[in-house]
Amino acid sequence: MFLPIFTIFILGLAAGSFFNVVIFRLKDVKTIFIGRSKCLSCLNHLHWYDNIPLLSYVLLRRKCRFCKKVIDWQYPAVELVTALIYLFGYFRFGLDANFIAYILFSSFLIIIFVYDLRYYLILDKITVPAMVLALVINPFLGKSPVDLIFGAVILSGFFFFQFIISKGKWIGGGDIRLGAVMGFMLGWQFGLLALFLAYMIGAVVGIVLIIQKKKGFKSEVPFGTFLSLATLIVLLYGQEILSWYLGKIIY
Ligand SMILES: [Zn+2]
Repeated sequence: MFLPIFTIFILGLAAGSFFNVVIFRLKDVKTIFIGRSKCLSCLNHLHWYDNIPLLSYVLLRRKCRFCKKVIDWQYPAVELVTALIYLFGYFRFGLDANFIAYILFSSFLIIIFVYDLRYYLILDKITVPAMVLALVINPFLGKSPVDLIFGAVILSGFFFFQFIISKGKWIGGGDIRLGAVMGFMLGWQFGLLALFLAYMIGAVVGIVLIIQKKKGFKSEVPFGTFLSLATLIVLLYGQEILSWYLGKIIY
């Protein structure tokens, strides 16, 4: 029991560390060689012991050894959250094929989540591989390809419709592609559940931000962040949420 938990946690920290590099590299091609191995401010090469996920951040007291510039909190946050998300999957599925699929899907969702939150953009370089992966893997887990394709058409169609009527003001092309990712990952029923959940989360977060006066009613919101979070929740607990919800309607 302890060994798999420990191993998956370490694996998650390492994966999170890799996602940080991917996110920064996708943002700026010029920094292609600058990952965790160099400080982004002073460009000094980091020692291996300054490059350990989570641990180095704590030991260095959040500052670069050379230039003392504060290290971006995204590093430890993504590392820790990835480790926890992987662990949730282990507790949900155990070590089976569903767990492997979950690890792969959640990895893409974490990158979409962070990237959209930071840069207000959903990249095709992430969504297109995620679509292909989900469409290839899910049929092996017993999901019907028709269900997956139907889900992708409904969800991306939903965003495409908004894109057309708002002439691209409400929704970006990235959301349309992310809708297809959700459909391929979840199928149409769970896909719609995730969509519903994303709007609920978005509404709650929006109200909190407006109360705190951090954002106005017309502010841009990184909706891909809510969509990827909702998709992750439904991957884990979709069945429970749906049963609970249907139970509420019937009784
Ligand atoms: Zn530095």
